[in-house]
Amino acid sequence: MAAKYQAPRGTFDVLPAAARGRARIEAAAAAIFARAGYEPLATPVFEDTELFERGVGKSTDIVRKEMFTFEDKGGRSLTLRPEGTAPICRAYVEHGMHKLAQPVKLSYAGPFFRHERPQAGRYRQFHQLGAECIGTDSPLADAEVIMLLSDLLGELGVPGVELRLGSLGSLEARRAYLEDLKAHLHAHEGELSRDVRERIDINPLRAFDSDDEGTRGVMASAPTIVGSLQGEDAEHFAAVRELLDAAGIVYTVDPTLVRGLDYYTRTIFSFVCDQLGAQSEVGGGGRYDGLVEQLGGPATPAIGWAAGIERILLALGEEEDAKAQRRVFISHATGAGKISRAKALALATELRHAGIAAEFDLAGRSPKGQLKHADRIGASWVVFLEDSGEGQLRDMASGEQRAVDLGNLVEEITGGEL
Ligand code: ATP
Ligand code: MG
Repeated sequence: MAAKYQAPRGTFDVLPAAARGRARIEAAAAAIFARAGYEPLATPVFEDTELFERGVGKSTDIVRKEMFTFEDKGGRSLTLRPEGTAPICRAYVEHGMHKLAQPVKLSYAGPFFRHERPQAGRYRQFHQLGAECIGTDSPLADAEVIMLLSDLLGELGVPGVELRLGSLGSLEARRAYLEDLKAHLHAHEGELSRDVRERIDINPLRAFDSDDEGTRGVMASAPTIVGSLQGEDAEHFAAVRELLDAAGIVYTVDPTLVRGLDYYTRTIFSFVCDQLGAQSEVGGGGRYDGLVEQLGGPATPAIGWAAGIERILLALGEEEDAKAQRRVFISHATGAGKISRAKALALATELRHAGIAAEFDLAGRSPKGQLKHADRIGASWVVFLEDSGEGQLRDMASGEQRAVDLGNLVEEITGGEL
C-alpha cells in the first residue's frame, strides 16, 4: 500500500542505518576543524531574502532559480538558506567580529535548501559542512583551508578525488577580464546556446560551465582569467601553488574553473570525485575578499569552502551502513522473570557504563524469540540469564556458548581489552 504522505520531492528521511555514516563524517570534520582552530558557528536556517540576493548575487542560478523564498506573517521576505557563507559573513558583521583577533576561523554543518531538479547527489534539502577563514589575505590561509578539506576527504577514505585549482583575480582585474570575455562571446553569438546567449552581459563566466556543444566550441578559444592574471593577483596565485606543492597536495590548474556564486575573488577550487557521475563535485570554495564589505562590514579578505555530505556518502558507497557497532543482547526469558528482568536491566546498565552497547528484550518474547531477535539486530553476543542465577555467554558469530561469571561480565566480554 502506498503511504498517503511522503517526504516532499527532493527531500529524504535519514533512517537509523544511514545515520551512522553521517555521524562519522560530521565527527571527522569536527575533529579536523577543532585541531586547526576552526570554531563552530551555527546560523538560522532562514535569513532575509536580501542577504542572499546581495551576497550570492542576483545573476546566479541560486538566486534566479533555486531559492525557497516565502513571506512571513509580518510581510517580510525570507529564504531558506541555499548556502552558508553569506550567513556566516552576516553574523561576522552583526557581532562585530572584525574587532576580534584576525583571522576569525569558523566552521559549520547543517541543512541547506535549493529548488533543483532532484537526482542522484542533488536534492532540495541537503547537508553541507564548511570552513571559513575571515580576515586575512595571506596565501597561507588559502593553502590551509584547502588542506582541511583534503585531509577530511583523505581521512574518510573518499576514493578517486581530484583537486582543481583556479583563480578569478581581484574584482577589478576580473571586471577588465569580463569585458574581454563578453567581447569574445558577442563575436560568436550565433554558436552559443540560448541560455548562455541571453546571459552574456549578466553572467558570462557561466558559459565555461555549459554542456552545450556549440558553446563548448566557443569557449575552447575564449580568453581565460588564469591566463590573464597580473601583478598581485598573479603573485598570490603563485604563492598558493607553491605552498600546496611544498605540502605535497596534488592539484591541476583549471583555467576554466568557475563557481556558481558571484562573491568569489582570486583563488577558487573544487574537489571532484570520479565515482559521482554528473554531480561530480564533493566540495569546493574560494576567496571572497569583497563579501564582508558588501554586506556592510569593513573591507575584509576571506576564504572558505563547503562540502556536500550526501556527495561524500555517495562517493563512499553504501558500505558505511554495514559497520554496525558490536553489541550484547541480554536474554532474560526465564521462569516468572521478575528477578532476571531486573538483573537484565542492571547488567545492561553496567555494560553501557563501561562503553559497551547492550540491549535486552522489551517485548516479552520467548527464549527462542529472543535469540532470533538478537540475531536480527546483529548482536555479537547473547547473555542468557538462568533461574539459578548463573549465566551463559553465546558468541553469535561462532555459535559457541559457555558459562560466564555475571559478576565480571565486562571483562568476560572484552577479554580485558576495551
Ligand atoms: P553543483 O555544480 O554540483 O551544482 P554547486 O557549485 O552548486 O555544485 P556549491 O554551491 O559550491 O555547489 O556547494 C558546495 C557543495 O554542496 C557541492 O560541492 C556539493 O557537494 C553540495 N551541493 C550543492 N548543491 C547540492 C544539492 N542540490 N544537493 C546535494 N548536494 C549539493
Ligand atoms: Mg549547483
